[in-house]
Amino acid sequence: MNYKVLIVDDSPTMRQLLAFSLKRIRGVSIVEAKDGMEGLKKVTTDTFDLALIDINMPVMDGLKLIHMIRTEENMDELPIVVITTEGADADKERALELGANEYLTKPVQGSEVLAVAKKFLVGL
Ligand SMILES: [Mg+2]
Repeated sequence: MNYKVLIVDDSPTMRQLLAFSLKRIRGVSIVEAKDGMEGLKKVTTDTFDLALIDINMPVMDGLKLIHMIRTEENMDELPIVVITTEGADADKERALELGANEYLTKPVQGSEVLAVAKKFLVGL
């Protein structure tokens, strides 16, 4: 099986951590975007099996991106994992209301990323 995962985060360090964890799953290929606008562009021109989306980003934040994805046709099935900041419970609630399937709270552990990705990709 091949899986394609979109990582949308303005922090290169976070993108690297997420990508590093995801690459432990066989058959995963990764596409990165540095803000919501770039993420939207990629998600509408390619097909993904999972999207990991940060909330706080310049240009277009994660909440707006999740909203855009969920209002886009044929994309209500795309699993979305939102990356939230510790203590930002309102953002987390809003992301889930908008249609995110799951959340991870910073600081994110590689093992958590792996577990949540496996759940959506492989069904483990
Ligand atoms: Mg950020």
